[in-house]
Amino acid sequence: MATIRQDDFIQSVADALQFISYYHPTDFLQAMRRAYEREASPAAKDALAQILINSRMAAEGHRPICQDTGSAVIFVRAGMNARWDTTMSIQQMCDEAVRRAYTYPQNILRASMLADPAGKRVNTGDNTPAIVHFDLVPGEQVEVFVSAKGGGSDNKSKVAMLLPGDSVVDWVLQMVPTMGADWCPPGILSLGIGGSPEKAAMLAKWGLMEPVNIDELKARGPATPAEELRLELFEKVNALGIGAQGLGGLTTVLDVKVADLPSHAASKPVALLPNCAATRHAHFVLDGSGPVALEPPSLDLYPKLALDFSTSRRVNLDTITPAEVQTWRSGDRLLLTGKLLTGRDAAHQRITDIMARGEKLPVDFRNRFIYYVGPVDPVGDEVVGPAGPTTSSRMDRFVEPMLAQAGLLGMVGKSERGPAAVESIRKHKAVYCIAVGGAAYLVSKSIRASRVLAFPELGMEAIYEFEVKDMPVTVAVDAAGGAIHRTGPATWKLAIEKGAGAAQQAAPA
Ligand code: SF4
Repeated sequence: MATIRQDDFIQSVADALQFISYYHPTDFLQAMRRAYEREASPAAKDALAQILINSRMAAEGHRPICQDTGSAVIFVRAGMNARWDTTMSIQQMCDEAVRRAYTYPQNILRASMLADPAGKRVNTGDNTPAIVHFDLVPGEQVEVFVSAKGGGSDNKSKVAMLLPGDSVVDWVLQMVPTMGADWCPPGILSLGIGGSPEKAAMLAKWGLMEPVNIDELKARGPATPAEELRLELFEKVNALGIGAQGLGGLTTVLDVKVADLPSHAASKPVALLPNCAATRHAHFVLDGSGPVALEPPSLDLYPKLALDFSTSRRVNLDTITPAEVQTWRSGDRLLLTGKLLTGRDAAHQRITDIMARGEKLPVDFRNRFIYYVGPVDPVGDEVVGPAGPTTSSRMDRFVEPMLAQAGLLGMVGKSERGPAAVESIRKHKAVYCIAVGGAAYLVSKSIRASRVLAFPELGMEAIYEFEVKDMPVTVAVDAAGGAIHRTGPATWKLAIEKGAGAAQQAAPA
């Protein structure tokens, strides 16, 4: 009978959380590489290149792939004949592992868990608690699946109770466009069908732990209805033309997972869960022989890519004028240099509250750009830790007051804006740019200095002033209201419908 010692379990989970913060799963990395090689959309190809370069940098530097280092989701399948040598519960051991991993001094990870989520929303400080799922199975070993789940992709999860006669394919194809680019495609979609509403969601979550193997399935052919559905959805979702970061392109999903269970005759529960460009998970087995050390991937698996800035415009943020901004068009690629403000949800709320009270703002936003970001804390000689963009749509309700009253000129974030935000941008002749979600370590290398300007008590949500050098962004909404997240996918959907030749000619969107 295997004896699983408390510290072996805790250290193995903590090590796995560190490991996945900087190593993509090998199968996922290879699928991303294949997507890059076959991508015909220049904008999507550039985004994929940034994701791959970032992945290599994270692997080499042992620093997080993405600034959202996720909630720790841990599945434990414990053999019923295993013996535990511990005074802690599984939840307590997982929490201790998360604490150890997220505060590891050489690679501090971002603490994103908030207590009292419906009220004060106070950061727990060490990313605990873990989200733990526990199962008792035959055997004497303990299998552990560790993942770090970003908020942007979890936020796009869908659960529905379909009518028995409803088409699951139709539902998925209706849902995916509503998810936009907030979940940082390309990634994985996992579908759970049947059971009950919560069981369907669990089936889908389990699917996200599986390796990317759609090419093998294509090669051998489907053996079950679920596998047939995987292939059908893989083709049809990619045919939507959403592409990397929603810029329009050939690959939106690298794989689709489907799992099903019997359900009540009156019901058809379905759950659709995405995993983003920062898909992070690892799997190991404890057999009582000690802690598990995961094997690092060979760096040969990472393509050696160089970013091509030959078509990018250089922009000086310190001398930028509204007239210059109005010459940009959606899809233009820029390299930003100069002083860039930061702010996200909490800071925007405070700023708009201050303006509503008619008080003086702590920061002058006039003709400035703001970057929606919540970076990882720096380590060693870093100015800032990984600092990729956060989901911009959460700031949509602040766009009008920030442009009209605060005098902001530009915003940088990730994924699309809602119609009201686009209209505000058009009305005020401002601009919205995107950086690549999931390329956080790469982006952080453009940041040369950082200082807090306001609300230091908000931690990663404070307003900072970054000094950036050649930070790569793409104009997503221009001063005339042109929006690449609308035109890009539409162009590529049409091109894919017309066939490969048309897709090759659909550039530049
Ligand atoms: S890649 Fe995007 S969705 Fe995923 S963790 Fe990073 S910011 Fe969040």
